[in-house]
Amino acid sequence: MQTTLMIYDGTAPADSDVPRTGGVPLAPAGFTWPMCGSGCGGPLQFFAHLPVEDGVLSIFVCQNDPGACEFWAPASGANRVYLFPRRELQPMAVPASGVALLPATSAIRTQVVTLDPDEYDDQDDHDEVAPDAYDLARAGWKREPEERFGKQREVLGSLGGSPSYLEDDRLPACPSCAGTMDFAAHLEEGISSLTEMKLGGQLGYVFVCHTCREGAFLTD
Ligand SMILES: [Zn+2]
Ligand SMILES: [Zn+2]
Repeated sequence: MQTTLMIYDGTAPADSDVPRTGGVPLAPAGFTWPMCGSGCGGPLQFFAHLPVEDGVLSIFVCQNDPGACEFWAPASGANRVYLFPRRELQPMAVPASGVALLPATSAIRTQVVTLDPDEYDDQDDHDEVAPDAYDLARAGWKREPEERFGKQREVLGSLGGSPSYLEDDRLPACPSCAGTMDFAAHLEEGISSLTEMKLGGQLGYVFVCHTCREGAFLTD
């Protein structure tokens, strides 16, 4: 089982074309900042810039009125995911009001973690739940043999793989073509209140339709 973890790696320039959370989104010319369609009408907050094979995933989630707008639901209008082509991107104009930016920009480095599923087979899981690659990789991040916990808060999520403990009936459909979407990333809140993407303690899931170049976001 291989998992590509995303690890907190200090700060990054706010408009850099590197994997990061926070900062200013880079988008094609003329692209306007996405607004919340779930009631508040304010700007969505820019969460993350994630370069992938065929472009850059750009993730936005409403934080103007936490708990009111349903940012956890994929079709709520309170979140947006785009797959931009990775060329001629430019920093977007930031809305003057509303919660549009995170307080800090955090660089992400990726680290491939390989685990042997057999090692986890005969633990005390009486209900025969299959080992979950992401969950195990995150739990084991920088964990010493004698320790119960590692440095999980350094883990900002993962890229690719399969969604961790997500029920099939929660898999989102593409907002444009209604087709099946590919799983793209997990997002965790982060290491501190200064850098974090507020998800109410939940795990974020990012899906993408490579044909429509649009994505979807939800939390568990
Ligand atoms: Zn909203
Ligand atoms: Zn589509």
